[in-house]
Amino acid sequence: MIDLSLQILNWYNQNKRDLPWRDTSDPYKIWISEVILQQTRVEQGLSYYLRFVQRWPDVEQLATASEQEVLKMWQGLGYYSRARNLLAAAKQVLHDYNGVFPKTIAELQKLKGIGEYTAAAIASIAFEKPVPVIDGNVYRVISRIFDVENPIDTPQGKKHFKALADSLLDKKCPGNFNQALMEFGALQCIPKSPDCEICPLQSICLAFERKKVDQLPVKVNKIKVRKRFLNYFVLIGQLESQCFTFLRHRKAGDVWQGLYDFPCIETSEKKELHELENEAFFQNIKAIAQEVKPLPGLRKHVLTHQQLMVSFYVVKCKSGFEVLKNNSLSLVSQTELVNYPMPRLIDRFLQDNESLFDNCNKN
Ligand code: SF4
Repeated sequence: MIDLSLQILNWYNQNKRDLPWRDTSDPYKIWISEVILQQTRVEQGLSYYLRFVQRWPDVEQLATASEQEVLKMWQGLGYYSRARNLLAAAKQVLHDYNGVFPKTIAELQKLKGIGEYTAAAIASIAFEKPVPVIDGNVYRVISRIFDVENPIDTPQGKKHFKALADSLLDKKCPGNFNQALMEFGALQCIPKSPDCEICPLQSICLAFERKKVDQLPVKVNKIKVRKRFLNYFVLIGQLESQCFTFLRHRKAGDVWQGLYDFPCIETSEKKELHELENEAFFQNIKAIAQEVKPLPGLRKHVLTHQQLMVSFYVVKCKSGFEVLKNNSLSLVSQTELVNYPMPRLIDRFLQDNESLFDNCNKN
């Protein structure tokens, strides 16, 4: 019987990617990397990580940042609650722990946004605490090596996997071992068609022996996707020789909390412009509009739990359009737009339609 832990560590030493958070035991940097890499591929997350720790090299500096700046830095990564939680947790570390990261799992889990997974990662990698870290890669590797059919997304399944991961953990070097197991799942035991012929664990892998590699891991809960129709109004007007538009600050209780998008009418199905006329917000638009022009095409934007079907309308505004400004609608000049954190969908729209504002300048 081969020594599984030793094999994984040997494999890791020969194959691991050279990543900046592997050269440090600074809990702050490990925390930032772990949060960025949740739901994000390493290739995409790396540049965000480098920019983030360059702008805020330690927890004290992050704690004094504004939410708008942190969200702007996060723009494009999605799951924006992660960024808001980072800021809130940095403030907790500064105020409740004098700027020094707590070391225990229990205290780490008191920090906003830090759950079992992230606490285990920080505790083991930064402080060498003997706790297993179980991400999607680890679930996959363990389910295949031991042919575990217990679903990974049920409480009972999670308990089973945790016990197995704990029994595998190399308690002499938990941080390195946890990273090795995750890296093994990310590079070798990949979700689709892993190259089992070159795998150092092939001789003990039950899924390989039983030809079940493509059936594991098992999940029971399929994500329900909600379809929404968003009709965005890009209001463009001129004020003191500058072009302005309105941005809506998104509140709690929906996707993109804290980010900015355009004023919007949401409908339960696809509607044409004339079908929106009875909506209260459309009456406001009518009062200030010189022209309302639909942009062709319905754009699809897919989030984990939602499918957004998006239409854009460009509204050329009359003078006096600034009366629409209120607590949730900000009047923003064309040049200031870059300072506002936005969903990727809106950012792309602006990049693809730079000429919208040229027309305003010509008025
Ligand atoms: S043999 Fe294949 S399925 Fe088994 S651990 Fe190796 S890569 Fe994964």
